Amino acid sequence: APRVGVLALQGDVREHVALLSSLGADVVPVRRPSELASVDGLVLPGGESTVIDKLATTFGMRDPVRAAIADGLPVLGTCAGLILLAERIEDGIPGQRTFGGLDVTVRRNAFGSQLDSFETELDVPAIGPGPVRAAFIRAPVVSEMGPAARSLARLADGTVVAVEQGNLLGLSFHPEMTGESRFHRRFLDTVSTRTAD
Ligand code: GLN
Repeated sequence: APRVGVLALQGDVREHVALLSSLGADVVPVRRPSELASVDGLVLPGGESTVIDKLATTFGMRDPVRAAIADGLPVLGTCAGLILLAERIEDGIPGQRTFGGLDVTVRRNAFGSQLDSFETELDVPAIGPGPVRAAFIRAPVVSEMGPAARSLARLADGTVVAVEQGNLLGLSFHPEMTGESRFHRRFLDTVSTRTAD
């Protein structure tokens, strides 16, 4: 079974661990560089990107995660995890940093207070037929994409909410909260393909 990690500094770590385990993966929480070095893929959970950023520095994880991404480690980021994967952020707090990797700009808390949280169905042809039930919780959106990044899903108004680039997959929403397993499967497929090389 592929051995994958969930960055366990803050956020909805347990939901990702449970979903990945149910798909047959060997899953470990990752808090230290040695734990990161032991996995073939990493999930960046939802939560609060500013807090995860600060804790990553405190735990000495910032540079190792950046280096692993640059080295091609497959990473799935949901919500705050998408923010952490973005090269550029709008409406970050002063000094907020990301790990980067995805050539996109992400706007934090893009839906304002009225639509703070909502669920909707998305069409995501890349993961197969059948709608994706998507939970958006103080969610970011992709506001700009560089040429290397590919949109996988848009809202009805055209806003990009899922993006892929190489071994990186970033989602505005939380599939781990609605029983949607196809993105995690895709991530595990990427991990298996890379470890077979
Ligand atoms: N608003 C949060 C942030 O900026 C993300 C919310 C989430 O992960 N559900 O990090």
